[in-house]
Amino acid sequence: MPQDHASRIYLSVPHMGDLEQRYVREAFESNWLSSVGPNLDAFERDFSAELLGGQRSVALTSGTAGIHLGLRLLGVGPGDEVISPTLTFIGSVNPIRYLGAKPVFIDSERSSWNIDPVLLREVVLEKVKNGKPPKAIMVVHLYGQSADLDPILALGKETGIPIIEDAAEAVGTLYKGKQVGVFGEIGVFSFNGNKIITTTGGGLLTAHDPARVEKARYWSTQAREPGAAYHHVDLGYNYRLSNVLAGIGRGQLAVLADRVEARRRIAFRYRDAFADLPGIELMPQASFGLHTNWLSVVVIDETKFGATRDQIIARLAEENIEARPVWKPMHLQPFNAGCETHGGAVAEEAFARGVCLPSSSSLTAVQQDKVIAAVRASAFTGALGRP
Ligand SMILES: *Cc1c(COP(=O)(O)O)cnc(C)c1O
Repeated sequence: MPQDHASRIYLSVPHMGDLEQRYVREAFESNWLSSVGPNLDAFERDFSAELLGGQRSVALTSGTAGIHLGLRLLGVGPGDEVISPTLTFIGSVNPIRYLGAKPVFIDSERSSWNIDPVLLREVVLEKVKNGKPPKAIMVVHLYGQSADLDPILALGKETGIPIIEDAAEAVGTLYKGKQVGVFGEIGVFSFNGNKIITTTGGGLLTAHDPARVEKARYWSTQAREPGAAYHHVDLGYNYRLSNVLAGIGRGQLAVLADRVEARRRIAFRYRDAFADLPGIELMPQASFGLHTNWLSVVVIDETKFGATRDQIIARLAEENIEARPVWKPMHLQPFNAGCETHGGAVAEEAFARGVCLPSSSSLTAVQQDKVIAAVRASAFTGALGRP
């Protein structure tokens, strides 16, 4: 199989703008190379001002770290239950385990692939009735599309259960015109290398209560008390982003709008290019907000398309093109065996039928043409053949 790195078309690669190196160079020139410095201050300030309506934030080493701190801020501890969608990446759920708590998995709704608000309500009200309310409800905004937040927020208000938003895949994503991440008590973003903007690795936490942001900042630096002596009264972590990487973040923030536009253009180009083929369509675009289409996901009906998810992925691999299945639902993971799960058919179907296609904002039209041609060529090549 050809594996030529230079010509390989990847799923989602970093895409730098013009300013990142300048901010990184400033960090080197000033020797602010660690977990304090002007890039960190500016990155948090600008992210908060430009995306979060001024709500305070703290930059961290990863989105996973942010979810860990966010859940701890909500008081999640051993034996507690935390609700999570089953259709998500393990990074949403591992932090529940770090705290000794138990995830409870809920299926997705078809219109957005995110947590089903109706099923969520049933499950939560039943638990409340039984005197065992979950400690927190985690909402994930998958692939750049928001969950349907209004009914979820109403449920949170009605029951007093806090909402944490995993917006790792949703920088630039809107719900009813507003950036997600500020609707719940806590919101968390990721700047991992494959995300819509990146600091190579990084994350950010925001919260309605500024005291919670400051608490997360304190925990993220080993819970070191002020003063020269290494004095500790609380459990901490080494979760603070470095000032060098925050410089990359500043540069990336300046091109976010372009990146969103490019990802959407790519997704809709796939949609149009496959419009005449049976059994392949772009994942749903829900009506309640702007879907960045961080990843372009197509849904295959294998009997109509004449090839399965894996046959398409294998065909693309032959052309040195990276494609992947949708996230494998959490309730199907051996690691989560025995976890309470409600429904799961929608998530399982998305997993069985979804293919993530190359979606980098730097993808050229020529590269995308190559992907489109390879997908088209895979039709009717499966075991099922032409009907
Ligand atoms: C990427 C991702 C995370 C974790 O973010 P990292 O920065 O990689 O730790 C969490 N949840 C979802 C849904 C993600 O896609």
